[in-house]
Amino acid sequence: MLRVLRHGFVIVSLTLLTQIGGLAWLLALALRRLLPSSRRLVFLIFFAGIYSVATFITHQVAPLLGRVPLPCFTAESLAVSTPLYCMLNRNFVTPELASAATAFADHMAETFPGTTTLALDANFPFVTGFPLLPHLSHDDGRKLDLALYYEDSDGNFRNGETRSPLGYFAFQHPLAGSPQPCKDRRRFLTLRWDMIWLQPLFPDWDIEPERMREALRWLSNEGHGQGIEKVFIEPHIPARLGMSDGVTRFQGCRAARHDDHIHIQVR
Ligand SMILES: [Zn+2]
Repeated sequence: MLRVLRHGFVIVSLTLLTQIGGLAWLLALALRRLLPSSRRLVFLIFFAGIYSVATFITHQVAPLLGRVPLPCFTAESLAVSTPLYCMLNRNFVTPELASAATAFADHMAETFPGTTTLALDANFPFVTGFPLLPHLSHDDGRKLDLALYYEDSDGNFRNGETRSPLGYFAFQHPLAGSPQPCKDRRRFLTLRWDMIWLQPLFPDWDIEPERMREALRWLSNEGHGQGIEKVFIEPHIPARLGMSDGVTRFQGCRAARHDDHIHIQVR
């Protein structure tokens, strides 16, 4: 009984994390008797092999069903920030979003030569309505998170780098007097985690204002022509860049903080 519960827990966790991982685990269990040894390490290696093959096949099959993978290994204008997102099958978007994100990244690379735009969490490869946790809305291929552009404390642009290993949770501090609509709100049911304990671990970089301003300007202007309908970011970031209200949208106080990334979505 305990064993069934343990496998159930692993299958649910892998499914929530990677979508196809739970099925790969089930397949590994079904084929276990083919293994030469019953040692746990042998089984884990066997599972890793099945999962890798399933991930490779997924990257070939998902485009036939309407979601394409963002580039994992090329260092062109647009790149997935860490291969981990590709390994976990979290880098899939609709072809329309792929082309909008590429157009955006190309524009940034033309305006600021050599600039790489980094993609963070996108969507899973299959099934509309299957959310990519903890991003509840990333469930249809039309949503993508982009990393902010950073400069270090000496003012050097950190191309292709993020402040935290995953690109998330290293929040930019609002400047004094900037809009902070959630400041005095404390809600129990919220995905707005501040993770104060984590912040000292990240380098003390700031946003790179020129690229950030151009990015938000393009996304909310030319981006419309590419099908981009919403751009979410914390209001204090466009405010400090001197951008007018209404350029971008605020995601609300229940959703995750958006001063560690930009969220875009297409129609
Ligand atoms: Zn998002």
